[in-house]
Amino acid sequence: MKIQNYINGQFVNPINNDWVDNYCPADGEIYGQLPNSSLEDVEKAYNAAETAFKEWSQKPIEERSRILIKISELLEVNLDRFAEAESKDNGKPISLAKAIDIPRASSNFRFFGNAITQFSSESHESIGLDAVNYTLRQSIGVVGCISPWNLPLYLFTWKIAPAIATGNCVVAKPSEVTPMTAFLLGEICTEAGLPNGVLNIVHGLGNLTGQAIIEHPNIKAISFTGGTSTGAQIAKVAAPMFKKLSLELGGKNPNIIFADCDYDDMLSTTVRSSFANQGQICLCGSRIFVEKSIYKKFKSDFVEKVKALKIGHPSNSDTDIGALVSKPHLEKVKSYINITKDEGGTILCGGKQVTIDGYENGYYFEPTIIEVPNNECRLNQEEIFGPIVTIMPLDNEDHALQMANDIKYGLSATIWTNNLKRTMRMSSKLQAGIVWVNTWMLRDLRTPFGGVKASGVGREGGFEALRFFTETKNVCIKY
Ligand code: NAD
Repeated sequence: MKIQNYINGQFVNPINNDWVDNYCPADGEIYGQLPNSSLEDVEKAYNAAETAFKEWSQKPIEERSRILIKISELLEVNLDRFAEAESKDNGKPISLAKAIDIPRASSNFRFFGNAITQFSSESHESIGLDAVNYTLRQSIGVVGCISPWNLPLYLFTWKIAPAIATGNCVVAKPSEVTPMTAFLLGEICTEAGLPNGVLNIVHGLGNLTGQAIIEHPNIKAISFTGGTSTGAQIAKVAAPMFKKLSLELGGKNPNIIFADCDYDDMLSTTVRSSFANQGQICLCGSRIFVEKSIYKKFKSDFVEKVKALKIGHPSNSDTDIGALVSKPHLEKVKSYINITKDEGGTILCGGKQVTIDGYENGYYFEPTIIEVPNNECRLNQEEIFGPIVTIMPLDNEDHALQMANDIKYGLSATIWTNNLKRTMRMSSKLQAGIVWVNTWMLRDLRTPFGGVKASGVGREGGFEALRFFTETKNVCIKY
C-alpha cells in the first residue's frame, strides 16, 4: 500500500515523487511505501497551516472542542481497523494495540477537547497601584509535531490534540518506520469536520522531512518525542531561531524492589514493565534493583514467569511478545547480547533471536534477563529500548538511590515498598520526571509528563501541554 501526505485536507503524493519502503516486522516483507517528503512538501504543508490559522485560531473554543471529541469518537468506531494497522506496522501484539494504543489515541482527543474548555487565564488586581493585570494565553501559529515509532498513534495524537485544541495549526511528521495509523488519521479528521489545513501530515525520513520542519523559520514551536541524540540535534538547530521546544527523550529507568512490597503484584507488574511492547516503551523499567533478602527468590520467580511469555505473530490474540520494530533495531538489541560476556554479565533467560514458523524473516527476539555485576556497565547505562532488562541486588535505600540516579537519564522510576516514610524520602530524591510507587505506567492525563537530565526538557500532559502550545501575554491596565 502506498500512503500519501495529508495536506490542506487532501491526500497528495510527494512533489519529488520520492518514496521509502515500509516493512512489516512480523515477516520482514515490504508491504508499502511512504513519501520521502522534501523541503517543498513541508513548505506546502506550512502554507496550508498558515492559511488555516487565521480562522482556526478565532474559532470559539466550544467549536474546536466539539471537533476534537468527534475525532475521538471516530477513532473508537474504527478501533479494529486502526489496531490492525498499528500491529502490522509496528510488530506489537494486536491485543496491546486494541487495549492501549488506539483507545489512548482516542482519549487524547477527548481529554484535550474537554481540557480546553477549562483552560483559562488569570487576572490580578494590583491593589495600591490602581491597576489590574490579566494574562492572555494565545495560540502560537504554526507548530511542528514529530513523533517516534514505539507508540505510533498514541504519541502522535498526544501532541496534535493539545496543539489544535489551543488554536494552532500543525505540520506533523510520524516516524518513517510506522507511518500507517497517522495516514489513516487524516481520513478521520476530515470526516470529523476539522477544517482543511489545521492538521497537515508529511511523511518521510528524519534527516530530510524532520529536519525541514525543524529548520522552517516560521514554524515557531516544536514538540518532539524520540531519541536523546536527535533531541540534542534539534535543540541546536532550533536555538538560534528561538523556537519553543518540548523534548521528550530516552530513558533507562530503575525499578527498585524492597522486601516489604506486595510480592505477587510486584512480580506480575515487573514482567509487564520489563517486556510490554517488547520492551520498546520509554518508561520500561529496564534496570531492576532488588533488596538482597529477596533477591534469590525474585530471580527464580521472575525468570520462570518470563520464560512462560508467548512469543508469536502479532496478529495472534494470545501473543505476549510480538516482533521488534525493524531489522536495524533487532541488530542493535543483539549487539548488547554480544557485549554481555565482556561486561561480566550472565544471561538468566532469553538472549537469542527466534524464528516463528512461516515467518522466518520476522524480527523476533526472546525476552531477556541479564544479571550484571555493577551499575557502571554499558548494559546498565545505555538505552537498549528492547526486550532486555538487567537485575542486580541492592543493599539498602541509599544504595538504591545512588544506583538509580547514577545515570545520564531521568525519565521515570518505580519503587516497590509498603514503607510510607521510605516512599516519601525516595520519591523526593529520585532524579526522574515521574515516580511510580507500587504500580507502573498508570497515567492520569491531567498529570505532567516528561523527564529530567538527558530524558528531556519541558512537560506534556494536562494544562502543561496547553501552556506549551500557547504564548503567555500579560496585560496591565492602570485605572
Ligand atoms: P528518533 O529520534 O530516531 O526519531 C524520532 C522522530 O524524529 C522520527 O519521526 C524521526 O524521523 C525524527 N527525526 C530523526 N532525526 C531527525 C532530525 N534530525 N530532525 C528532525 N526529526 C528527526 O527516535 P525513534 O528511534 O523513533 O524512537 C525511539 C526513542 O524515542 C527512544 O530513545 C525512546 O526512549 C524515545 N521515546 C521517548 C518517549 C518519551 O516520552 N520520553 C516516548 C517514546 C519514545
